Amino acid sequence: MTNVDFEAAQPVPLSRIVKLAKPEVGILSVATVALLISSGMSLAYPRAVGWLVDGVLENSTTAELNQIGLLLLGLFVVQAVFAMLRSWLYTVAGERIVARLRTDLFRAIVGQDTAFFDAARTGELTNRLASDTTVLQNTVSVNVSMALRFGASAIGGIGLLLYMSPTLTGIAALVVPAVAIGLSVYGRMLRGLSSKVQDALADSTTVAEEVIQSVRTVRSFAQEDAETSRYGEAVQRSYVLAAKRALAIGVFNGFIGFAGYSAIGLVVWYGGSMVIRGDLSAGDLTSFVLYTIMVAMSLATLSNLYGDFMKAAGSSRRVFQLLDMVPELERTEGELLDHVDGHVTFVDVHFNYPTRPEATVFAGLNLELNPGEAVALVGPSGAGKSTVAALMTRLYDPSSGEVAIDGHPLRTLDPRGLRTHIATVAQEPVLFASSIRDNIRYGRPDATDAEVQAAAEAANAHQFVSGFPEGYDTLVGERGVRLSGGQKQRIAIARAVLLDPAILVLDEATSALDAESEHLVQEALDRLMKGRTTLVIAHRLSTVRGADRVAVIADGGVAEQGTHEALLEMNGIYRKLVERQFADAHTELAAS
Ligand code: ATP
Repeated sequence: MTNVDFEAAQPVPLSRIVKLAKPEVGILSVATVALLISSGMSLAYPRAVGWLVDGVLENSTTAELNQIGLLLLGLFVVQAVFAMLRSWLYTVAGERIVARLRTDLFRAIVGQDTAFFDAARTGELTNRLASDTTVLQNTVSVNVSMALRFGASAIGGIGLLLYMSPTLTGIAALVVPAVAIGLSVYGRMLRGLSSKVQDALADSTTVAEEVIQSVRTVRSFAQEDAETSRYGEAVQRSYVLAAKRALAIGVFNGFIGFAGYSAIGLVVWYGGSMVIRGDLSAGDLTSFVLYTIMVAMSLATLSNLYGDFMKAAGSSRRVFQLLDMVPELERTEGELLDHVDGHVTFVDVHFNYPTRPEATVFAGLNLELNPGEAVALVGPSGAGKSTVAALMTRLYDPSSGEVAIDGHPLRTLDPRGLRTHIATVAQEPVLFASSIRDNIRYGRPDATDAEVQAAAEAANAHQFVSGFPEGYDTLVGERGVRLSGGQKQRIAIARAVLLDPAILVLDEATSALDAESEHLVQEALDRLMKGRTTLVIAHRLSTVRGADRVAVIADGGVAEQGTHEALLEMNGIYRKLVERQFADAHTELAAS
């Protein structure tokens, strides 16, 4: 089963994050050469300053002094050029890596099985895309570059220190064990805290998304203040954790600073005595102190970076978990059908939703839809009418039994290919925040303007669309908020007309409309249904009336089926449903 338990995700090894950089090996190699050159040159400064000091003390000539000064200037210029190259190339490589990672992650998310989305929350997923990938971006670009730069300075610096005076280096190294112990405790603590901060942040984003998306509902129940404090609490939780992390970072930085200065102090103190004894020149001591400062600063920066890497390890675990999740159903490599007649069969289908294993929806459902036939599903609320449609479009696979189209079991078909033969017009049609034209040709982006218009005409939509000043270019707003319910449905019908599928699913397509609107929508639907196998998820008698056959879904299967009249005569569930649930509509029908 699909696993979306982010909490259970294991921290990701750093090596895996670094592996993301593999395709950028070309850019990174050039950047690394630039880095080695610029770092190597910065290692030369302390030595040059040492010579300068010894030169002054030994009363060398101004000309010699000038020479050393000029040499230093030259070094600065060359080093600046390579430093610029290094910084630019590493950042570009980082941006490329993250752009790729974001796209891969998005592909992984939209490719997941439908069951995954039953359990996951939108905010959590968008957070993965936006904030976790940003943390990773910093890691793979800036942080890796800094780690290499300061790593090189530290290693080179230590080498030079040992070369200049092993004794003095040993004195400076007295602080190392304390730093090492501090570093390991701190690393462990920070990794845990960083994960928790990202989790808390994801929680608050989830709340924000939910509320902003449903602002009309929030407003109609006057829950703005309550939602603001719910968000505030989520933010507060992430703040408290971030504050703890800030304290940990602060304490550790202070500690590292102290250790660094202590090392320098030790060098000045012990090195001074060596100069007094004549074991070391003043210039050498100067160089040595500068190298020690360089090494201490590099190590301090590296320890800071260690914190950043831990942060990345914390926030990358969910990114990688999502990338690693292989959907079972959506990945099936099945047959592609060129033509479909629309003969649908459900044979002994057992099903429960993966997120609710304990609730059996079907226990032996049998149903047949003949090509061109319109079958209306009725039944008590929650009996599984929409689930029949979900199984037919293979959003889920049955736990046992078989759904087939034209004799091909759905399990053997390519899920995306299958869905090109089925169009759904839902109760609350989903439009995207683009133009009417783009919404109509959503399933067939290559449709011409003439085809779009013909589809709109068939869907009774052309008239109102051409009434808009911008016609087919009218933007519908997010989820189509700028259109009325009936207009949205007719756009959705036009979309289905354009797809020209063999099979249609109408999910209560005419509910929640006024009489005039319903008439226009129904007329468009009748036109659309002609010659296609249609599954109507019906809640109203007017929809049932247009169907060739009615199937009553109850108690985990098809309880009764037949024509409206035959079922009424049977005096069973359907009759009771009609009498109870459809009482008003039935009176209407009887009167007509
Ligand atoms: P209604 O007439 O109220 O729309 P329905 O007959 O279409 O109901 P379904 O939506 O098919 O019923 O739901 C059947 C059962 O499955 C219900 O008990 C419902 O709670 C459950 N269910 C529906 N969708 C999901 C889902 N995505 N995840 C888990 N359970 C679900």
